[in-house]
Amino acid sequence: MSTRSILKVVQTVRTLEGEGFVVRRPFPVPGLMQFDPFLLLDEVGPVTVLPGEAKGAPDHPHRGFETVSYILEGRHEHRDSEGHAGELGPGDVQWMTAGAGVVHSETPTREFARTGGRMHAFQVWVNLPRRDKMMPPRYQDIPSERIPVASTPDGKVRVKVIAGESLGARAVIDTRTPIQYLHFTLEPGSRFEQPVPRDHNAFAYVFGGEGTFGPEGTRAVDGQVVLFANDSDSVVMANTGAEPLQLLLLTGVPLKEPMVRYGPFVMNTEAELYQAFEDYQSGRMGRILR
Ligand code: FE
Repeated sequence: MSTRSILKVVQTVRTLEGEGFVVRRPFPVPGLMQFDPFLLLDEVGPVTVLPGEAKGAPDHPHRGFETVSYILEGRHEHRDSEGHAGELGPGDVQWMTAGAGVVHSETPTREFARTGGRMHAFQVWVNLPRRDKMMPPRYQDIPSERIPVASTPDGKVRVKVIAGESLGARAVIDTRTPIQYLHFTLEPGSRFEQPVPRDHNAFAYVFGGEGTFGPEGTRAVDGQVVLFANDSDSVVMANTGAEPLQLLLLTGVPLKEPMVRYGPFVMNTEAELYQAFEDYQSGRMGRILR
């Protein structure tokens, strides 16, 4: 059986976000502005922050897409204009569908900021189809213990199923369009083939160790993105290093709709983009009450 070939391997760049915290941002970057339906992937840390130095992203709006936060280390709190508030710790996921618009803040908890410590998290932006861009905002706050985990019989390949399905485990998170969001850990010497429907775009982001991908064993290391071609119904990966291979596999059906984006707004037309700015500036996306 053949598996998907590799389109290309992309090196990430480090950039500053929010109040000035370092992220690795595989995309958007010049030459890879999106990977339909995915608009952005940020890896925050891993970094050890000193007491009082943890930074976040204070009050800012979103419209027209979804923000997905997945925490590996540290504690974050979120708060928004819909009156929604909560904390996220290691292993927890927040899948926020901004839809017509929210204003929210994403910061380390007061306690974490005071003590400092290890911070490591991912944020993915998923575009919404035209029909859902103005839907009411929706939250799915899923604690770590509710996220299915599965492994191969020999225990060498482990997967956390944030969205979609792998190794017989099905995600509890509901997505607007078909998406798979899988966190794989492969022990040295192991290999795995994950089914991916042919109509999905698929990429892997390696954030620990090194491995090979695709039928020709294309190498990728920590910090690189592997873009798969849409030429088969599975992707194959193998750990060829001495450390565990850690990666996110993200797949989704491309929307194939016009996309105009500026900062926190992603719409289908320029007019809708201007409208988003106008609605935000005139307070129609609400504000955070404290
Ligand atoms: Fe945000």
